[in-house]
Amino acid sequence: MARIDALVKSGVVNTEGFYTLGGRLAIDFANSFKRIGREKEGIGNFEDLLTFMKSHHLLHEDEASDLHMFLFQNPGRCQQVVDSLIELRTGFRSVLTELAEGWPVNPEFFSHINDRLASFKSYHKIEPAEEGMELKTLIDENGPEKLIFPIVHDIAEFLTSDHVEKTRPCANDDCDLYFVNQSRNGRRRWCSMSTCGNRAKVNAYLKRQEA
Ligand SMILES: [Zn+2]
Repeated sequence: MARIDALVKSGVVNTEGFYTLGGRLAIDFANSFKRIGREKEGIGNFEDLLTFMKSHHLLHEDEASDLHMFLFQNPGRCQQVVDSLIELRTGFRSVLTELAEGWPVNPEFFSHINDRLASFKSYHKIEPAEEGMELKTLIDENGPEKLIFPIVHDIAEFLTSDHVEKTRPCANDDCDLYFVNQSRNGRRRWCSMSTCGNRAKVNAYLKRQEA
């Protein structure tokens, strides 16, 4: 566990092992297929999804326990939400791959996101935030489908922001994580220095020693 503690401290993952280095929810979601300490898919089932949402501060404990009850009553509907999010993530990751190759966002993906946004009835509300008050977008949905909304909403905001041009894949070919490059000099190459960056440095050092 010592290793994960160090990674949590440096902002690479959260305490549940989900990556938090993306720079925003949409990208952390794109990276959620990996989870430190797990061999398999990061969001393999509905409980994993609840953990992902809670650890990203998108779900309160009481909402999570309500949804946990819902899982016993209607596991099929909960699994559909997981499947739907995995499909969304696959589509979004292809968009990120194409962007990294210099292609624009596929217009079909915009329509896909618009369809998903249209499936929610949303409204705005002023609510207390950590500091002062905050204008929030809320939705009329209490079922498990509500878990999809903040993710779709942030992907939509991502697609309309300058983060589209700033998103990069980690320079380690075996890594497959994305991040929004907000480094001041724009030269960030690695998902994190604590993982791929250090490994690359060590490898370069070993190579020099061999020579
Ligand atoms: Zn990496």
